[in-house]
Amino acid sequence: TLRAGVVAVQGDVSEHADALRRASEEYGREAKVVEVRTEGTVPDCDLLVMPGGESTTISRLLRDEGIAEEIVAHVEAAKPLLATCAGLIVAATDAGDDRVETLGVADVTVERNAFGRQKDSFEAPLDVAGLDDPFPAVFIRAPVIADVGEGVEVLAEWNGRPVAVRDGPVVGTSFHPELTPDSRIHGLALFESELAERLPAPDQ
Ligand code: GLN
Repeated sequence: TLRAGVVAVQGDVSEHADALRRASEEYGREAKVVEVRTEGTVPDCDLLVMPGGESTTISRLLRDEGIAEEIVAHVEAAKPLLATCAGLIVAATDAGDDRVETLGVADVTVERNAFGRQKDSFEAPLDVAGLDDPFPAVFIRAPVIADVGEGVEVLAEWNGRPVAVRDGPVVGTSFHPELTPDSRIHGLALFESELAERLPAPDQ
């Protein structure tokens, strides 16, 4: 059984945990979902999700709890990470905001809240590389991906700007794939990746 960790210091943790369970069922990969609140959990995880929420708070708590370094080590070990919205801001190389101490595991520059204020939150059908049909993408005060580094694959664009990217084991989205019943982004990022295929076989 794979161990799938949801970073649970702040943000929409339970929605991601549910999405992970749905994806593991749909993709036929058995996974135990665990919440990451303190140091010492991430090293035992095969897969990780970093949810949306409020990026300055998440980045501060990750540092305080000693989880930040563990997430960096997880990605350096080529294990899959799905980082969504505020999670992507924290994962980025540059968040354009000193209050966010980024992890630098996804080589992108983001701009916080660049899709507008809360009332500008919206849902859009999005063509995503690797998915056959459009994905219902929910954007909530979403970051814009302003720049992507070399070797970063753009998986989806909205209005000509990248909103989903893959940088090695990391998939990052500006939107919230956990807020619709469609679990294909979780599947694509965590259960379908070649990296996930190479993870240890179920223990029994
Ligand atoms: N606006 C939030 C931030 O910048 C991100 C929004 C979200 O995760 N829905 O931290």
